Amino acid sequence: MQLADLQVIGDQLALKWQGGEEQFIALEQLRNACPCASCCGEVDVMGRMHKGPDATLNEASYQVNQLHMVGGYAVQIFWKDGHSAGLYSFDLLQQMRPSN
Ligand SMILES: [Zn+2]
Repeated sequence: MQLADLQVIGDQLALKWQGGEEQFIALEQLRNACPCASCCGEVDVMGRMHKGPDATLNEASYQVNQLHMVGGYAVQIFWKDGHSAGLYSFDLLQQMRPSN
């Protein structure tokens, strides 16, 4: 599935998939699901979990500065608090549909 368009509308990320399906994800949900190593933790070769210090999130943490498409498979989000390490793969974004 390819992404045809994406933009921030209010406090939501609006995605348009090729084929015309639209999807909205709350920015707060997106930031809380940031897939980068410092937000999710990283397991080293010994199986130990490494996690960065819990960043203090503030209002700017849930606001988007820029969106970049990465290699046709992911979206990189530049948050206004300066965080941009997370790559949201299209798979991940599609999994963030409401389940009900
Ligand atoms: Zn992160």
